[in-house]
Amino acid sequence: MTAPLPDEPGTGELVGDLSPAEDALAQAAEAVDSAEQTEAVDMTPLDHPHRLLLVHAHPDDETIGTGATMARYAAEHALVTLVTCTLGELGEIVVPELEHLAADRDDGLGQHRVGELAAACEAMRVTDHRFLGGPGRWRDSGMMGTKGNEDPRAFWQADMNEATIELVRVIREVRPQVVVTYDERGGYGHPDHIQAHRVTMAAFDAAGDPGYAPEAGEPWQAAKLYWTAIPLRVLQQGIDAMQAAGHEVPFSSATAEEIGVGVPDELVTTAVDGRGQLDAKVAAMRAHASQIATDGMFFALADGVGQQAFGVEYYRLVRGERGPAAGPDGREDDLFAGVTS
Ligand SMILES: [Zn+2]
Repeated sequence: MTAPLPDEPGTGELVGDLSPAEDALAQAAEAVDSAEQTEAVDMTPLDHPHRLLLVHAHPDDETIGTGATMARYAAEHALVTLVTCTLGELGEIVVPELEHLAADRDDGLGQHRVGELAAACEAMRVTDHRFLGGPGRWRDSGMMGTKGNEDPRAFWQADMNEATIELVRVIREVRPQVVVTYDERGGYGHPDHIQAHRVTMAAFDAAGDPGYAPEAGEPWQAAKLYWTAIPLRVLQQGIDAMQAAGHEVPFSSATAEEIGVGVPDELVTTAVDGRGQLDAKVAAMRAHASQIATDGMFFALADGVGQQAFGVEYYRLVRGERGPAAGPDGREDDLFAGVTS
């Protein structure tokens, strides 16, 4: 799982003159060092009564979409396993001094983001992280319709059987009760998010099938499968609050429906309140310094109007039994609600 990767500036020792981005990464690492350390990695999955597996496309997706959830369950001593499908080689670099890492120059962004993701996981106290098929097995495909989609190394071009077996291997090893990924649109239409969805849907069922790839481990059927979701009402409230606070909002002329990433409220089954872990989520966001501008919308949200928008994360149960409702809206407040074993 830790295949050697080529050396790349920015991911080695954090000493000497640091760029602001490297500095942010170092600060995130320091924040973790100075805080109480978690127990050593415990890789005996069944020692953890609750086991959560999240499948994400690129480094930073885990933090932006599910960071509070991951930090909360890690703090509650669940085994939280993150599988990331690509290194995010084609992400948009928001820090000028890292622009040389871009694919059309040094092509070093993926390796750099391995370090950012490690720091983000530390901030969330998540100790079990893997890249699907090992680091660099599949490459970021770029936005839909770009030439990265055609790259034979791209996750969008992945052999479904191979990718599914790789994920089945992880599921059978860590035996999660709960699996999380994106909906069939990949949340917002990125090819790697759509592919992560497809692979996870296939692997969720295949892992429990004794006839499927016996060489990939003992069968394990997870109890529940969720897709991440942003309820339309929450999205609209966020847009309104940002505008009221005078922030520039992308798609500011659009309604929540028109933006195309929201989910009708009635489809959202579960709200996980991770507001108590907001500091961890923000520290993890800072670790993704090449991707998330510290003067941008995300940090404005986290600091101001977005405590609720940022600390509460929403999900849609698509497989398994819905647990008891916990709030006035009838939603579960726990991904493990109703899970008995
Ligand atoms: Zn992504």
